[in-house]
Amino acid sequence: MEATVSLRLDRAGALYIPGQLFRWLSVGDRRIPILMYHSVADEDESALPQYYRIATTPSQFLNQMTWLHGQGYQAVSVGSAVRLLQTGGSSAEKMVVITFDDGYLNFCQYAYPALERFGFTATIFLPTASIADRPLIFNRRMCMTWGDVRDLQRQGISFGSHTVSHPQLYALDRERIREEVLRSRQTIEDETGSAVDSFAYPYAFPQTDKPFKAMLRKILEECGYRYGVCTRIGRAGLESDPLFLERLPVNSADDPALLEAKMAGAYDWVGGLQWLAKRIRRSRTKACTQK
Ligand SMILES: [Zn+2]
Repeated sequence: MEATVSLRLDRAGALYIPGQLFRWLSVGDRRIPILMYHSVADEDESALPQYYRIATTPSQFLNQMTWLHGQGYQAVSVGSAVRLLQTGGSSAEKMVVITFDDGYLNFCQYAYPALERFGFTATIFLPTASIADRPLIFNRRMCMTWGDVRDLQRQGISFGSHTVSHPQLYALDRERIREEVLRSRQTIEDETGSAVDSFAYPYAFPQTDKPFKAMLRKILEECGYRYGVCTRIGRAGLESDPLFLERLPVNSADDPALLEAKMAGAYDWVGGLQWLAKRIRRSRTKACTQK
């Protein structure tokens, strides 16, 4: 499915049918879009299908922030978004959560100035083994240092955990998952002096595996987390699990037209397709292992 989506069916679908149908069906729904960014830089990702690209050019990022500001959006933290959804009312309207995974240094150079210009806050999820007192490399990109983290925190940017070593948690046993989840939180708290209550699941989230989700939820709760985001596509609503909130992936391909469609719910159908594809893949894997 994900290869099919990479043909930009997601874009066509969001802008036309079935996106328009989803947009119409969700009118009046209380939902908050959580945007998922990674790198903000001029990077050549042409070898990758667009769906898998994680870079947003600084000029497109500025376009996106300008559009959000022009539409009257306000940025809030993950926790504030959940509380706004739970308390109800129209206060959840025109709210957006802006998140960045992996702690890349280019946030400081390109993303922060645009956020600051419009008074937007953001949450950065750090894989703590890649953050040090000097810049380290993760995924071929330079990461921010603890000094950068503390500077950004003073400017109103929030930080959450993205594990210690950015592993496929799904492949680890309970004890190692717990270590990744707990140690990363403690490290960020030690380095920043502030409490950490949010977590971002690295890589694709195994959303159809209920026993795994139940185990991970328990570990996250035991380790002090209250909120979490993952790669499930969609907008967060009242029925969303606060520890596994849906997000909308954003990259350079998101011109204001596509961003507007995503924010209005016209991309939520891709989340349904994502769930179905994972469900089919999981039942195939089960069938194979039972043979
Ligand atoms: Zn990541």
